[in-house]
Amino acid sequence: MNKDLHSQHHRFHSHPTRRDFFVQSLGGALASVSVLELAFNRAAWARALAPTVGGTPLFDIKKVADDVYFAIARVQALINSNSVIFVNSRDVLIVDSQSKPSATAALITQIKKEVTPKPVRFVVNTHFHDDHVQGNSAYTKGGAKVDFIASVSAGELMAKEIPIRLKETLDISVPAQIETVHKFYGKATSADEREFWKEQLRQLEAFQAEMKTFSLELPTITFAKSHVIRDRAHDIHIEFHGRAHTSGDVVVFCPQKRVVATGDMINGSLPYMPDAYPTAWPKTIDSVADLRFDQILSGHGPIMNRDRMVNFRNYIEETNTRVEEGKKAGKSLTELQKSITLASLKSLQDNGYGRYVAEIRDGLFPHWGRTFVEIKEDFQDAVNGVTAQVYRNLDRV
Ligand SMILES: [Zn+2]
Ligand SMILES: [Zn+2]
Repeated sequence: MNKDLHSQHHRFHSHPTRRDFFVQSLGGALASVSVLELAFNRAAWARALAPTVGGTPLFDIKKVADDVYFAIARVQALINSNSVIFVNSRDVLIVDSQSKPSATAALITQIKKEVTPKPVRFVVNTHFHDDHVQGNSAYTKGGAKVDFIASVSAGELMAKEIPIRLKETLDISVPAQIETVHKFYGKATSADEREFWKEQLRQLEAFQAEMKTFSLELPTITFAKSHVIRDRAHDIHIEFHGRAHTSGDVVVFCPQKRVVATGDMINGSLPYMPDAYPTAWPKTIDSVADLRFDQILSGHGPIMNRDRMVNFRNYIEETNTRVEEGKKAGKSLTELQKSITLASLKSLQDNGYGRYVAEIRDGLFPHWGRTFVEIKEDFQDAVNGVTAQVYRNLDRV
């Protein structure tokens, strides 16, 4: 795993990078104690605290079409992915699980209460990353018959990578986060602040305890190109369009409802690149774009439209081009990061795309309710992270 701080800044998944995201996002807020920070009021703490307190729902479930629902994950110390819920005539198909079985169990409870009592029969894992697969076993608890569907490549990577990365998370990154939380707790100056850190600690320790005895539920159905489930309610096409965020990302497309679930291949944050194929990625999105859908239900962030998909795609392509040109000109990564700035990236200026992403990212990770000025500074670091990942992986095919 790369240990470059910048590339670690933007992250969804659990190897040591999560620790650095956490340390840097919170550390940055504390290090730059400003007038704004000192004026930090109860309302801001309440906002930061509200979505993470135990007992409140972990998801906001929205109806997006008849029989299609989108469960948007609320911020947690360890990120969960969104899930998409397709209600079939007799059962349910879910896209993606979460970072731990208890989070997925909480989703199942919410689905039963807010969506349908029908049983979950299929779970699609869009790719192998922990925040999309580690909740799988919640669906088979009690012996329910459930098929887990993924691409061949995602299935192989789940089996190979998840045990290694989870060990790293439990041995290195979560203990480091806990240490950091203790440090901030010790420096806390208000009851709300202490409450916030206590809640972070509770979540991290609960993850440690739960995952000690974790075993991964692997795919039962894998496919190379596509797998179709036909139902009276609608057809569900699970399709591989090429390499992108990983070697095995799939999308879940429903032609009748004109929706597509895209995991992290097309999402509301920045492209996460450590396992990615940067030059293939835009072409893969172009292929997905040929499908007839109006709404994109991604792994992180809100419902996206096609314009935002194009913004996301263009940002990857622009970064690829600029890194490629920079490499040809013999520039170092540091030099490139200095020139590939928010202001210079046309794709980020287009239709306020940079601001759109910065605001979404602000809601994905626990933090101190920073101002937009600070988010922008943080966002340049995140962009530097993408530049670093493209710099390393550009030649991957
Ligand atoms: Zn993810
Ligand atoms: Zn991912």
